[in-house]
Amino acid sequence: MGYLLKLLIFFLAIWVVMSFIKRLAKPGDEKQNSDDPVSPEQMVQCGHCGVYIPRSKAKNVAGKNICKDCQNHPEP
Ligand SMILES: [Zn+2]
Repeated sequence: MGYLLKLLIFFLAIWVVMSFIKRLAKPGDEKQNSDDPVSPEQMVQCGHCGVYIPRSKAKNVAGKNICKDCQNHPEP
């Protein structure tokens, strides 16, 4: 009976350590997410019309981020 009790305590100790490690790992994930609180994609401002667009939709023209509308219909 004493052996079983020791075995139970041993597995309980492992479970406590595992849950402690999981608890330590979770705040790290939340910290990574908090770097981008609003959207996963970085927003940039169009250098022509000033509208905010995702970086992937913007085209870099002469060091400025230009939105798709300004690329298709460039005003003089
Ligand atoms: Zn624009």
